[in-house]
Amino acid sequence: MGALERDYILTRRNKWKPQFWVRIKDDTLSLWRHSREEFEMFKEELKTLKHRDERFKNTDFIFEVENEVDGKPGIPFCDVRLMCNYVKACIRREVYRKLSNTFVHLNEKSNGPQYLKDGILRGFLHRNDIVSSTPEAHAKELELLANIFIRNGYDPKRVDRIISSWVPKAERDNTTREDRETETQGQEEEARVVLKVPYVKGASEKLKKSLKKAAGVDVVFSGGVSIKQKLCAKLKPAKYPMEKQGTVYMIPCKDCSRPYIGETKQPLGERVKQHKAKTAAADMLNGPAYHTFHHDHKVDFEGALILDTEKQTWLRKTKEALFIRAANPGRELTQVMNQDRGYTISKCWDWAIPETRRKMEWAQRKKNPRPSDHS
Ligand SMILES: [Zn+2]
Repeated sequence: MGALERDYILTRRNKWKPQFWVRIKDDTLSLWRHSREEFEMFKEELKTLKHRDERFKNTDFIFEVENEVDGKPGIPFCDVRLMCNYVKACIRREVYRKLSNTFVHLNEKSNGPQYLKDGILRGFLHRNDIVSSTPEAHAKELELLANIFIRNGYDPKRVDRIISSWVPKAERDNTTREDRETETQGQEEEARVVLKVPYVKGASEKLKKSLKKAAGVDVVFSGGVSIKQKLCAKLKPAKYPMEKQGTVYMIPCKDCSRPYIGETKQPLGERVKQHKAKTAAADMLNGPAYHTFHHDHKVDFEGALILDTEKQTWLRKTKEALFIRAANPGRELTQVMNQDRGYTISKCWDWAIPETRRKMEWAQRKKNPRPSDHS
């Protein structure tokens, strides 16, 4: 979308260049000074653009247009509702909340420092200052905020105090800029000392205050280790090897040292199942099946192991070929069950063969550890 805007929509090439265009992720706000018919034509033009211009061949998008219509005031854009005032010829703004908004915020009783909880309310007050463009919208939002925070367990007196003592950032900046300038000049020499401690209700606030007073140390709170972290850290099951996708794998033989090396995008278990089925059906084009019947050996399907994981197909196939070359450096394929070498890879990969072989041995040892490996 960014390229489309830069190279087409906002250029002179576009005869319907919008007067105003701003996009945040997939939300775009635009001012259109042409007719509605022309807007439809513009949309058509964008749709066919990818056939006409090589640069946009991969752009795919669907435009859904919202207009300001009667009965539904304004256009929501991010968390702002914009309304046209046709009499005064200006755009009014107010805070917009989706219908699905639940008005639930961090509860007053939750375990956390008070300044953080108050800060949430202050954040909303700041948003109201920059979004609401009329005194009515501003006052309406203040009332709503007070109600929301009281509903989330905050003491009404505290909420009132925060709201009534609130000074908009713009004013704050003006009044304190000079003070701060003189203040920072003196402080520049001193390095700030910050102590990070777990938050314990009651005790931490006292510690913060007294450390700041006595030693000028700033205390910040961390969550500490939660019971959930302690108990559940190891509960998430690791992905079983047979469920892994995008692997280079190896299937050993129970009766000789010749392995089968393959790669697959599917879960490894699925691929092994297919090999088993092909062996049962005596499909002689299949490596393990051919090995089973030609040598009268038993292929160890249960012993299948992962040599490497790789999502990109070409890289996975390159790795497969490299593993085959590492297992079978000679010209003839005599040391593996494979009937071909897979991808043809250049000789310049030879430097990687020793490392590949080590990786292969390591994977085998991981699957079947020898007693000495544990010492
Ligand atoms: Zn064998």
